[in-house]
Amino acid sequence: MTSHPAHEPAPEMAVTVRGLRKSYGDRVVVDDLDLDVPAGRVVGLIGANGAGKTTTVECLQGLRRPDAGEIRVLGLDPRRDAQALRRVVGSQLQSSALPDRLRVGEAVRLFAETGARDPDELLERFGLAGKRRTPFAGMSGGEQQRLFLVLALLNRPRLVILDELTQGLDPAARREVWASVAQLREEGTTVLLVTHELAEAEALCDHVVAMRDGRVLDAGSPAALVARHASGATTTFTGPPGAVDVLRTLPGVRRATAADGLVRVEGDRASIAHVGAWLVARAPEAGGVPADLTVDVPDLESALLSLLESPDPAPDPPTLTGVAP
Ligand code: ATP
Repeated sequence: MTSHPAHEPAPEMAVTVRGLRKSYGDRVVVDDLDLDVPAGRVVGLIGANGAGKTTTVECLQGLRRPDAGEIRVLGLDPRRDAQALRRVVGSQLQSSALPDRLRVGEAVRLFAETGARDPDELLERFGLAGKRRTPFAGMSGGEQQRLFLVLALLNRPRLVILDELTQGLDPAARREVWASVAQLREEGTTVLLVTHELAEAEALCDHVVAMRDGRVLDAGSPAALVARHASGATTTFTGPPGAVDVLRTLPGVRRATAADGLVRVEGDRASIAHVGAWLVARAPEAGGVPADLTVDVPDLESALLSLLESPDPAPDPPTLTGVAP
C-alpha cells in the first residue's frame, strides 16, 4: 500500500477490496486484486479488453459472487448487505433492464425513492426534457445511455458506478456528461468509472487503476501514470538540417533528426522550453519562429499502451490511497 504523509489523516475509503478473485469456469479473470477508492474522488478503471474491469465492479455491486477476497463498499458487504447497498450506490443499468414500452417519465417515477432529486431537473440536464413520453425502445442509443445516467443519479447515491459512461454519445452530449460527473465530485459523491476513453479518464479522474489479465499493473493520478510510463516530448518544426547539431546540445534533448526539411527533437519535458528559447533567439535571422511548430507530449493513452506492453508487474503493485504520488 502506498504510504501517505504521517501528519495527514488516512483518507476515508468508499471502497476497499483485498485479494479479490473471480473465475469463470477454470479461467481466472480477477486475480488477487486490491483496490482502494477514496471517498469523494473520481477513480477510473482502465485497461485492455477482458482485463476484468466489469467483473470487478459487478462484484462491488453484489451482482457476482467472488471466489475469494474482502470487499467493503461504503462499509457494507455487497453480498450480505445487498439491499442497504442499493440505497447508497447508483449504477448504470444494462439496456435489457428496462421494458421497451416504458416511457422516460414513467421510468423516473418508478425508480425515484423518497428524497430523490428532482427528475425534471435531471432530465433537463441530460437533454431528455422533451422525451418524457417517449418509450425506451424509441430512443437513440445515446438517449438511452443518458436515461441510465439520470436513473443512476436519481436517488442521491453516495457512490456512483459507471461502466462505459459515454459510449455512443455524440461529442456535445459527452461534454455534458463529463460536466455532470465533475459536478457530482464537487457535491462530494464518489465516482468509480470503467472506461476505454482515456481522454475521459484524464479529464475526470483523480486516480486511475490500470488493469491487465485481472491484475493491477499500476495506479495513481493520470499525470503520475504518464510521468512513470510515457515521459518525454517531441518538438517538430520546419528548419535547416544543420540545426540538429546545436539542438542536440540543448538541455533535456535526447535526439534531434532532420528529414525532408522537418526537424524533430525528442527529449524530456524541459527540452520543450529549451527548444522554444532557441527558436525565439534565432527568430530575427530565420525570419520568425516556424509557423508549423508542434509539440507532442504523451498522454494517458501512450502511458497505458506502454504499460500494457510491459512485462508482468512486481508481485506487489501499488494500490490507491487518497494521496496522489
Ligand atoms: P472490456 O473492456 O472488454 O469490457 P473488462 O475488462 O470489463 O473487458 P470483463 O468484462 O470483466 O473485462 O471480462 C473479463 C473476462 O471474463 C473476459 O475474458 C470475458 O470474456 C470473461 N467473462 C465475462 N463475463 C463472463 C461470463 N459471464 N462467463 C464467462 N466468461 C465471462
